[in-house]
Amino acid sequence: MAEVLRFPLREVKEKGESPVAATVPPEEFPGVVKYGELVGPLSLTGRLTAQGEEAVFEGEARGRWRIECARCLAPVEDEYAARVEARVSLDGGSLDLSDEVRQAVVLAQPIRTICRTDCRTVKN
Ligand SMILES: [Zn+2]
Repeated sequence: MAEVLRFPLREVKEKGESPVAATVPPEEFPGVVKYGELVGPLSLTGRLTAQGEEAVFEGEARGRWRIECARCLAPVEDEYAARVEARVSLDGGSLDLSDEVRQAVVLAQPIRTICRTDCRTVKN
């Protein structure tokens, strides 16, 4: 896993909060979409705040993905937005959000994607 989603904690430790913004190519998250793939870069935005001895991150990962229709397998492209939260000791030096972002994108996927409500390729 690349270091692209690792953020230093120096600023949040000194100022109490620190904005976070990063854009990473979809290749950083291979296999994250169960029945499809990410299309284009993933943008992470949010804020680090100091809470006691911890740095707390709250933000959102956004981008586009392409998922197969569960009936006809046609690709369906759509936007996603996944909430990302993490907390780490302020003394840790840095916070790596790679795992949290991956988890958030996995959890944001619909159980079933249908290309259109009347997709009838699979007969009942
Ligand atoms: Zn379909």
